[in-house]
Amino acid sequence: MNIGQLSRAFEDVMRKQLADSFSSFVQSLDKPACISIRLNPNKTKVAEDLEKVPWSKYGRYLKERPTFTLDPLLHAGAYYVQEASSMFLEQAFLQTVDQDKSINVLDLCAAPGGKSTHLLSLLNKQSLLVSNEVIRSRASILSENIQKWGYCNVVVTNNDPEDFKKLPGFFDVIVVDAPCSGEGLFRKDPNAMQEWSTTNVELCSKRQRRILSDVWPALKQNGILIYSTCTYNEKENEENLAWLKKEHDVEFIKLKLSEEWGIENVHSQDIDGYHFYPHLVKGEGFFISVMRKTKAEPESSIRSRPTFASPSTKISNQLHEWILHPEEKTIISRHDQFQFFPKNKAQEIEFLAKNLYLLSAGTSLATAKHEKLVPEHALAMSIELNKENFNLMELELVEALQYLRKETLPIHNSQKGFSLMSFQNISLGWSNVLDKRINNLYPSNWRIRMSG
Ligand code: SAM
Repeated sequence: MNIGQLSRAFEDVMRKQLADSFSSFVQSLDKPACISIRLNPNKTKVAEDLEKVPWSKYGRYLKERPTFTLDPLLHAGAYYVQEASSMFLEQAFLQTVDQDKSINVLDLCAAPGGKSTHLLSLLNKQSLLVSNEVIRSRASILSENIQKWGYCNVVVTNNDPEDFKKLPGFFDVIVVDAPCSGEGLFRKDPNAMQEWSTTNVELCSKRQRRILSDVWPALKQNGILIYSTCTYNEKENEENLAWLKKEHDVEFIKLKLSEEWGIENVHSQDIDGYHFYPHLVKGEGFFISVMRKTKAEPESSIRSRPTFASPSTKISNQLHEWILHPEEKTIISRHDQFQFFPKNKAQEIEFLAKNLYLLSAGTSLATAKHEKLVPEHALAMSIELNKENFNLMELELVEALQYLRKETLPIHNSQKGFSLMSFQNISLGWSNVLDKRINNLYPSNWRIRMSG
């Protein structure tokens, strides 16, 4: 990249911040961005042949960018396309959070779902993730990605950070992957550089402080806050954290790093943070910091008994056959719909439903139609689906793409009724096999529109 392409003000900020390594930084912006994916350990085998992202068990680099849209496994939730640096969340989480406890975790700025799907792979099944996005249209994309990932211990909400003030001391861990000026993604999106300005950095910084203040009461005493941005400047990173330390009782936590990862630990103004620069790491620009809340917080009272409606015994018995370990799940009914989530989190989910705007709670299981139960798409995506009790139809690549485009499928020699369509034994969704045709039940708004 020609230095002339950088805005003068951005160049000044980076020169000051990077000193001697500024020219290596500029050169690295000329190189292509790394391509990486994160595997869903519950759906796919670990790809040993691909280069590992060093700080993530499930992260893999790809040598070149495939046409992801035309890979059925992407739609099946077998992997998530994610920038490698941001997978460092795994270290921040594993090094600071007790893996054996049943905890409540909030991902406050969650769309499109990179960090949330990652957290679901890291959390134990007794823990609950609240995956929140304030912008409605982005919250729908988040819901879609969460469904595809296939976990039932998650609630998707569409709330402003301010709304979380109603949940004092509810969360053991809060992740704030804040909206930012995006300097770290200039290599992936050179147009974003043209939008950079010191005024925008100021605006982002103020917004980040507002978000942190709003959500702070919802963190328990000794709870962990993970703050991250995909930008380099100190205003949105170090200065915000120094401000947080001044306003609240915060203790920063140092993470163990391997020297060859190339991550830069900053320890300034009494705070600890980690910078990812593209000339030093195999990934894009990123910043992350982990801290503990040291002051006591009055905690939300969630003692009341859940009052969810339950399905009739007959329906319940049938639905139990459709999921694994039904004894560990609560199945609830809302109008004609049924959904399930972990039994041990029923009280928490009811409390959340009373205080937040929930887009989904757990996994949608089925809808009752004309005295029959129709399985929901989310159930096909679920890692809790009991496949043994359904007809299975394994598809070749061409057919799998036809299915995902919601086209008519050729008649297979299969049993009538609901069939689970799969590609490489990973579920894609449902079809209803009738006498002379197959009804493709793939969700219309998710269908592939790309030809090829
Ligand atoms: N965590 C996501 C992931 O890993 O896929 C990326 C999050 S992105 C960096 C920041 C998110 O914050 C965006 O989805 C954006 O819509 C949301 N956002 C924008 N303004 C916000 C605000 N005032 N409060 C909370 N979130 C906001």
